[in-house]
Amino acid sequence: MIDKEKIKVIVWDVDGTLYKSDATIHHVFEEVRQELLEKYWQRPYEGELKDLFLEFKEKYKSTTQTLAVLTGLSLNEVTEEVESRLRKERHLSMDPKLVRMFRRFSHFTHLALRNGGRKETLHILNQLGLGQVKISSQHQLGPFLRVWGSVDDFHLTKPCSGVFDQVKLWIYKNCFYRPGNKVTSRAIDKIAPKVLMIGDKPEVDLKPAKEVGFQTALAWSNLPLSKLPDYVDVVLPTVYDLEKILL
Ligand SMILES: [Mg+2]
Repeated sequence: MIDKEKIKVIVWDVDGTLYKSDATIHHVFEEVRQELLEKYWQRPYEGELKDLFLEFKEKYKSTTQTLAVLTGLSLNEVTEEVESRLRKERHLSMDPKLVRMFRRFSHFTHLALRNGGRKETLHILNQLGLGQVKISSQHQLGPFLRVWGSVDDFHLTKPCSGVFDQVKLWIYKNCFYRPGNKVTSRAIDKIAPKVLMIGDKPEVDLKPAKEVGFQTALAWSNLPLSKLPDYVDVVLPTVYDLEKILL
């Protein structure tokens, strides 16, 4: 169960959460995966290579991280390959319902955390119309105090715990810390339940978020809570349902 009274900060996953990714996007991911692996290993993807990919994907959860491990490319190189293709295929437009929800959520601190590059993340948020939800000049884009592209900002991808440790420390320092406060893990852990992580991939977004003490919301799912792991605190059939939960 979610403890909504505590929540002050919301960390938003982007792809598949702020907008629903369609079949084309999944297809692009599959194509890039296949091409990169075939180029590196000089053999067809179907068969052993595919099995190898699936085996490593099970371990790393992030496709970008898995491809980097299996091809010797850097996270940046894999990201650039994927982003340049997705840029052409992703047809996003302003989402009035989403914009309205963020306007009503102005009393929360919002942060965006996407697996990918920072520039592309800002671009997506702008395309969704969120750039027009102005809060203050301190905000990086629209309602977001900070927008992270995990590959640029952390040189890691979700679900790596390093990403979530850095996010938690950043939130403590920038949203809760006052000069004279203690900087101890106990003090930092104490603020963690004030943070809600919302995402569409339980193992990528929510499991590591719960491990650092955040509350968690699964977006775009109709599964009953009893069918989900206990690190999921609330299930939302659509992202817009967060409004019903929090307001
Ligand atoms: Mg996602």
